[in-house]
Amino acid sequence: MLIVMKPDAGASDIERVLQVIETLGFRGHQLPGESRTAIGVTGNSGSIDPAHFENLSGVADAIRVTKPYKLISKDIRPEKSVIKVGNGTIGGPELAIIAGPCAIESREQLFATAEVISRSGVRFFRGGAYKPRTSPYAFQGLGDDGVKMLAEVREQFNLNIVTEAMDEHGVDAVEKYGDCIQIGARNMQNFSLLKYVGKTRKPVLLKRGLSATLDELLLAAEYIMAEGNYDVILCERGIRTFATHARNTMDLSVIPAVHRLTHLPIISDPSHGTGHNYMVTPLARASVAVGADGLIIEVHPRPEEALCDGAQALTPAQYLDLVNQVQLIKSVITSEEVVFAA
Ligand code: PEP
Ligand code: MN
Repeated sequence: MLIVMKPDAGASDIERVLQVIETLGFRGHQLPGESRTAIGVTGNSGSIDPAHFENLSGVADAIRVTKPYKLISKDIRPEKSVIKVGNGTIGGPELAIIAGPCAIESREQLFATAEVISRSGVRFFRGGAYKPRTSPYAFQGLGDDGVKMLAEVREQFNLNIVTEAMDEHGVDAVEKYGDCIQIGARNMQNFSLLKYVGKTRKPVLLKRGLSATLDELLLAAEYIMAEGNYDVILCERGIRTFATHARNTMDLSVIPAVHRLTHLPIISDPSHGTGHNYMVTPLARASVAVGADGLIIEVHPRPEEALCDGAQALTPAQYLDLVNQVQLIKSVITSEEVVFAA
């Protein structure tokens, strides 16, 4: 059920609605919008009688929700959500670029990369400390030592830190030392982990699973929001198909589909989406052109020496060029100037 408040409803009206929801044994989620507040109700197994709410002061409407998701939906919040990540935002008018190495390998490699990312003027830095590797014998990341090094990068370069957590220990560490908890493709449907990050108050970057449909991605986001954490950023990182020319197949049509259904922002990961250095910049350009709210890009000072995902890492020079190109595309698609009049 969705309870839409009148534009002039006061805090006490909202409080009363939340109390009634609680008395009925359910959970109320208040998502303020630009023109009105809507309150989503979760925890009910069957439908709720709208009569409980219809006559309460400040209530405009009590609507039954027929879609499988409630809180991610534009019904509850027609405007786009702008998610605060550290001292930056994702989903607002600026393109949000998150860049850095696949994995933190050493202090020298980490700081050399951070210097380039900082110089490019972007606000967000990535770097994996807990790495989900296909082989148990591959480099697994520096773990706790790596996360602590990221906190030093944040301090020194004023960059907001996005890094993956694979379990509850990782979530606690990222909550303490980072700015945004990344849930990787392999954990998109790890429902206990989703509930755990839903209880934190750090924004979550939720990557699409290797073979997840859009509905599955949105329901994974709904898991996080149902626990009370509404700061979710979605990420298209390619899905597995029959194609072998790229590591994954980037499903760029999911970006406008996401914008149609949900108020949550979506960014694109052409590094994991393609797996090849030469494809990253073209797919980054395309992602921005179809409306991605941002990008996540892997950069390594010496890709040939990378311990993880070297084939898709950009050199610093290639990365700086990418930033220029995508910013130009962003300015073209947001420009109101008429270049070719009919
Ligand atoms: C990553 O971003 O480091 C990563 C492992 O990505 P994904 O979960 O999309 O494979
Ligand atoms: Mn990687």
